[in-house]
Amino acid sequence: MNIILLGPPGAGKGTQAHRLVAGQGMTQLSTGDMLRAARTSGTEMGKQVADVMDRGDLVTDEIVIGLIAEQLDSDASGGFIFDGFPRTLAQADALAELLDAKGQTLDAVIEMKVDDNALVARISGRYSCGECGAVYHDTTKIPAVENTCDNCGAVDKFKRRADDNEESLRTRLMAYYKDTSPLIGYYYAKGQLKRVNGLGEIDQVATRISAALGL
Ligand code: ADP
Ligand code: ADP
Ligand code: ZN
Repeated sequence: MNIILLGPPGAGKGTQAHRLVAGQGMTQLSTGDMLRAARTSGTEMGKQVADVMDRGDLVTDEIVIGLIAEQLDSDASGGFIFDGFPRTLAQADALAELLDAKGQTLDAVIEMKVDDNALVARISGRYSCGECGAVYHDTTKIPAVENTCDNCGAVDKFKRRADDNEESLRTRLMAYYKDTSPLIGYYYAKGQLKRVNGLGEIDQVATRISAALGL
């Protein structure tokens, strides 16, 4: 099963993708993570996208479509979770073509609905493990042992994203409403859209997503 997690920044896409990877053996493809990895390793492309990302604007379709195309050949018998991709109609069309060329289908698009106030609270408290990518929050998801990752045990490896500040968040939210939210209509018209309430406990949201996917 191949699915898209669609939602504004902070909706919980990464958090729920990690749950599906652990619980269902799916493979997460996060263009945000891929772009941050390119920056960390200092590639030309990484340097090219750094300012755009820090501002909160979208990277070009060409770059992110290229990143996804490279990954679709990897083995994913449990199916792909597209997290943070597609973000524009052009990306959605490209994904349909890429999947088609591989004889694959898109099975569901989960729209995670979270209101703007909750998004600001989530993003301003977000941090993650620099070793394994597990995502935490200052108040809603605290590690069991201080400064220690629940998932991989790394100590003192937590970090915050440069773009998780108020100004960049405002730009990212507007990019979502302007460029990405048209995808809701696009996938609804194709009969693939499933809307899930993204408010509430992480476990509760996970249960709603499982139900929407018939798991
Ligand atoms: P969030 O967790 O806030 O939804 P991501 O980690 O998915 O953010 O993305 C971080 C940044 O990377 C975005 O603000 C944007 O600059 C860039 N980016 C990620 N995915 C895409 C995409 N599919 N299209 C264009 N830009 C993207
Ligand atoms: P996205 O990938 O959509 O940008 P994340 O999964 O990174 O979102 O979640 C953003 C922040 O909100 C993280 O700090 C995460 O721990 C927290 N979070 C995720 N889901 C919930 C939830 N259901 N309730 C409260 N906080 C949450
Ligand atoms: Zn970790």
